[in-house]
Amino acid sequence: MSNELDIYHGPGNALEVVPEVIDAEIVDDHYGEPYVELSENNSGGGWWLSDEDWHNLAKAGWVVDWAENRARSNQNWVRNSVEQDEHGVWRYMGALAHDAKRYGVSLEVAQAEFRDITGQDPDEEGCECCGQPHYFSARDSQGNYVD
Ligand SMILES: [Zn+2]
Repeated sequence: MSNELDIYHGPGNALEVVPEVIDAEIVDDHYGEPYVELSENNSGGGWWLSDEDWHNLAKAGWVVDWAENRARSNQNWVRNSVEQDEHGVWRYMGALAHDAKRYGVSLEVAQAEFRDITGQDPDEEGCECCGQPHYFSARDSQGNYVD
């Protein structure tokens, strides 16, 4: 885990150091292992996964990056990207989450699981302008794109 510092050293300004604090509240027991990332896109103007889908993914072992995690971020822009609904549930543009990680399986297996859990097609093309609603990518232990 790198703790990078953004250093702004503009003309005439005193050196300003803004620590990029990593969200310590996010519990992820597999941190540092390779994973498959699911990133949802509101293709066509609406989310394709329901609240139940996200809960079912989490029950099946996927590490869901809940909107609630963002509410605890140290970064304003992240915290401000979510809001609570009338029940006090944190949502990102109306959704409980928009990405998740699946550790310990291949890209193909993760997609097959996704199909079983949500009943949706992992290869769905979505609308022409917005692209795929369900984007899967294999990532190495550093989070770099592999496949
Ligand atoms: Zn579109």
